[in-house]
Amino acid sequence: MNQNDQQNTTTIQPHVLIFPIPFQGPVNCALKLAELLCLSGINVTFLNTEHIHGPLLRHTQVLSRFSRYPNFKFDTVPDGLEHEKPVSGDGFMEVMDAVDKVSKPLFREMMVSGKWSRISERPVTVMIPDACFSFAVDVAVEAGVQVVCFETVSPCCMWTSYLNLPTLIEAGDVPFEDNDLDRLITTVPGTEHVIRRRDLGSFCRSNDLSDPVIELIVKEAKSVPRAQGLILNTFEELDSLILPHMRKLCPNIYTIGPLHTLHKTRLTTNPTQPSQETGFSNSVWKEDRTCLSWLDKHDPKTVIYVSIGSLATMTVEQLVEIWYGVVNSEKPFLWVRRPGSIVGEYDESRIPAELLERTKEIGCIVDWAPQEDVLAHQAIGGFLTHSGWNSTIESIAEGVPMVCWPYFVDQQVNSRFVEAVWKMGVDMKDTCDRVRVEKAVRGIMDSKDNVFAQSANTWANLAHESISKTGSSSTHLGRLVDDILAMSS
Ligand code: UDP
Repeated sequence: MNQNDQQNTTTIQPHVLIFPIPFQGPVNCALKLAELLCLSGINVTFLNTEHIHGPLLRHTQVLSRFSRYPNFKFDTVPDGLEHEKPVSGDGFMEVMDAVDKVSKPLFREMMVSGKWSRISERPVTVMIPDACFSFAVDVAVEAGVQVVCFETVSPCCMWTSYLNLPTLIEAGDVPFEDNDLDRLITTVPGTEHVIRRRDLGSFCRSNDLSDPVIELIVKEAKSVPRAQGLILNTFEELDSLILPHMRKLCPNIYTIGPLHTLHKTRLTTNPTQPSQETGFSNSVWKEDRTCLSWLDKHDPKTVIYVSIGSLATMTVEQLVEIWYGVVNSEKPFLWVRRPGSIVGEYDESRIPAELLERTKEIGCIVDWAPQEDVLAHQAIGGFLTHSGWNSTIESIAEGVPMVCWPYFVDQQVNSRFVEAVWKMGVDMKDTCDRVRVEKAVRGIMDSKDNVFAQSANTWANLAHESISKTGSSSTHLGRLVDDILAMSS
């Protein structure tokens, strides 16, 4: 080894580039991973596309939280989108297209030609892109950088509807018309008795194989196995049905979930702990924390929490059905009504007066809640959710049973697993009527020896064990850190 080689070897420092897809849930999750890596002494650059970076810094405590880490920095890449662009599920492909057209070539240029000044101060040794950014795997190979993908949708969806999508297409299972939705899908190992057509990722219902979402996911299915590893937000027991099968395709899987509780535990045992007032959230939007005092006034496990996350929408008719169902269940409710989540013109005069009256008595409505703290509050006894993966695993970690009303992508799979595999809730997919909602809410919350609440409790205990010092998720995080160090040497 000559002197230059020796110098290079000794001066290379582990430097991870994290690049999430620009949506609330994935960015929130990726920031938690970033903070855990910073705490392990690894240098981290967090790359956001511009339209999400602005609101993230403006509306949240994120900048002050991360300014405590000298080994952390943010960077941005243009996406050509307006700042603060209101996003709903319908806008998903618009954002992904913008990333593809604007961000992708710039990102490649930055990584391959080294024109990225801030990055080139310290070479990237390991890239952790969202698994959905298949182009990042190509760029990593071209730039000679190791790559570990981070999948923020659920492993059950990733397995059944992403990694197996080429097989499903080849077998003629996908696409299918909107009929015979109860037919079992028998081509996916591990879930032969669980998943019906209606439970596959929502994009499988498209009758067009050139649907851009299908194309995006087929690309992902081909690129992820080429990476050196795959990070999943789950714990071993929770996904024991599918993980052995996934490992045949992607042998190096790090299960580090529930990521938010692992993150919270590591931060509270660290001297740089943030104040309890702001919590541990990286929510891109401002949270209304007054609902926590409203919850304080209620008895344990009496309140139903209603939220459809950051992208899902509902029509006024669906809103009224769900609203009636919740009110008729007689449970006090905390409801997140994200601005823009009701499709069309929301006009209060269209809402029956009795609903508005009853809401004043037993309801609390906010624009955006500190959801992790809400689910951890003792007053919460149930969660009516759109079954986004973050919401689902946050509910699992707190032992809160769920009524699932999935909207799109992985939510159709998650809601099926909640009901049929984890047995901790009711899947209402493809229906929306007040009688069913009322029955489901009562079903998960009434009576002390409620089976849903019992399973939820069991899963919460297992989740808790997984993040203990010797638990599987802690071990996998330790292994990830060791592997990053080894890949960087
Ligand atoms: N969330 C929040 N406040 C709310 C509603 C949601 O902080 O009022 C957070 C929630 O804790 C979760 C994320 O937003 O971490 C939603 O992610 P999920 O995967 O459940 O759904 P998505 O928004 O991606 O559809």
